Amino acid sequence: MLGAIIGDIAGSRFEFNNHRSKDFDLFAPNSFATDDSIMTLAIAKAIMEAVQEGSSDDQDFYDRLSELSVYYMQEIGRPYPGSGYGGRFLTWMYSDQPEPYNSFGNGSAMRVSPAGFYARSLEKALLLSDAVTRVTHNHPEGLKGARATAAAVFLARTGSSIPEIKKHMEEHYYALDFTLDEIRPVYRFNETCQETVPQAIQCFIESLSFEDAIRNAISIGGDSDTIGAITGAIAQAYYGVPQDLRDQALTFLDERLLGIYQEWEEFIEELKVRPR
Ligand SMILES: [Mg+2]
Repeated sequence: MLGAIIGDIAGSRFEFNNHRSKDFDLFAPNSFATDDSIMTLAIAKAIMEAVQEGSSDDQDFYDRLSELSVYYMQEIGRPYPGSGYGGRFLTWMYSDQPEPYNSFGNGSAMRVSPAGFYARSLEKALLLSDAVTRVTHNHPEGLKGARATAAAVFLARTGSSIPEIKKHMEEHYYALDFTLDEIRPVYRFNETCQETVPQAIQCFIESLSFEDAIRNAISIGGDSDTIGAITGAIAQAYYGVPQDLRDQALTFLDERLLGIYQEWEEFIEELKVRPR
């Protein structure tokens, strides 16, 4: 989850002012934690509460997780209306009767990483992903983008190599038949899963370190904070996050969001879920 937050903060100032190079400061005075970080924290909170309430082995758990995802995305997100939410999501977030709206926006993928970090198996990563996604992004491409991200996080966290992760992504989700150098001159802002998630996965596939992955994600342009969040989540699972980047990133969270983050760190620590 921290990797998603770092990627989001790094990309925040480039979303509408793309920077097609790997040479930039990861954190700047005008960087900020956008909706991607806030919704990732909300999903983390929903998973923690669902787990604390009961067993994660039955259908009731996933139904309850969906309910809690709605509750916490609204409760945690509402105080930050100007954080970059899409229009339809914003309407959903303030609705008293929030219903799924068949979205295939990349919001499903940018917020899902806690599912990949918590899951005990690949199968459960996908069940968790669907439970937190279907409440808004119930279009097949919206569900798929989240599943691909959760699966990549799970595989990266549990010892798969980069070629193995790439193979799994290509067999189950997306063709990764392009390089970052090929797409950098022509890739444009796009908020769909199918035009964001494969690119973000490729930014991880071509990376040499956590920081290099984040730099790849910004360098292709497009929806920079969200690509940063998706790539950053997978990169955290694979490489871990350097302490200095962690410490800098957490200064961008207010007390409320930091409290949720710290609760998650303790939750994951207790479960002995660690990056490799
Ligand atoms: Mg954003």
